[in-house]
Amino acid sequence: MKKQTIGATGAIILFLAVILCSCAKAEPQSVSFQSMDTLMTMKVYGGDSDLCDRLQQRITELDTQLDATDENSEIHQLNQKGTAKVSDDTADILERSLRLSGELGQAFDITVYPAVKAWGFTSGDYRIPDDNELKELAAKIDDTAVKSENNTFTLPDGAMLDLGAVAKGYAADQCGAILKESHAAAAVLNLGGTIKLYGKKPDGSRFSVGVADPDNPAGYFGYLSCEGGVVATSGGYERYFERDGKRYIHILDPTTAKPVENGIRSVTILCDNGTAADALSTALFVMGLDKATAYYQAHPDFDFIILTDNDNLYITEGITDDFTLSNGYDFTIKSVEIAATQTDTSR
Ligand code: AMP
Ligand code: MG
Repeated sequence: MKKQTIGATGAIILFLAVILCSCAKAEPQSVSFQSMDTLMTMKVYGGDSDLCDRLQQRITELDTQLDATDENSEIHQLNQKGTAKVSDDTADILERSLRLSGELGQAFDITVYPAVKAWGFTSGDYRIPDDNELKELAAKIDDTAVKSENNTFTLPDGAMLDLGAVAKGYAADQCGAILKESHAAAAVLNLGGTIKLYGKKPDGSRFSVGVADPDNPAGYFGYLSCEGGVVATSGGYERYFERDGKRYIHILDPTTAKPVENGIRSVTILCDNGTAADALSTALFVMGLDKATAYYQAHPDFDFIILTDNDNLYITEGITDDFTLSNGYDFTIKSVEIAATQTDTSR
């Protein structure tokens, strides 16, 4: 009899514990902080109780190593000395970036830093370099000449690295590994507009990601529904200056060292891999619509949403039905198809 009573009490305690536990899991942990020059906000369901702290710590650590403008960072040291041995983290992002750069051709180049600096995008002291200076700057942009061996990187003469186009995507991948390790159920990490979507939401619904309106970046011109991955957006609206009515944006064409002017207002990428998503958003912006479309058709392992100056919205066929235009926007949606004859899934 006594045994049975204890058993019943035990069962009740166990039942309550399960209820309490599942309630705790349904309540997300969240955190907001400033890193990588932007505001980051995170919402995490399940996993260890210090998970948000660990994610924040990891991103802060990466920022400290990778920020070219920070005199104490490894990238700054490498840029100053021309050769340096770096940590495993820094070596990893550099190797990945160089590989992506090889795949993306001249649209993407991590030795763009001297040009970014010359235009004033690192300091806010904006200026327009003259044609001679631009020629010299463009001649120095060539990340195919970066050498590496056992974490020691050597830059070609006069070259300097800028990981601004990939750091947030890489951070998203690193956070993904931590979420997995600590058995999180789901997470939405907004790393300054690069969004990592992880796991399954408690109510089973799909994630919905707003795509920033370049004319009013606090608002969204539409929403993309998806099951996971990383959504990265590049747009001139993120950093630019104006002179004599003309806008100069922070995304540069490595072949000319000049800000891109090709009729694109923003490029949003959905891809499982964050580093690739981030590199692709920058690179496809530089490529322009036709080359971006051709690139996608040859490597259809990601999706894009490209907004052009004439209010056309080009969306790859894999996600056309998952996109909803917000009320009040009359953009013309054009679905971009995979041309079967050009398919090459080797990437
Ligand atoms: P994102 O916002 O991801 O498109 O990255 C833009 C940032 O990457 C700029 O602020 C520059 O620091 C750097 N950048 C600009 N143009 C390029 C380029 N063509 N390839 C690689 N990095 C670039
Ligand atoms: Mg990018």
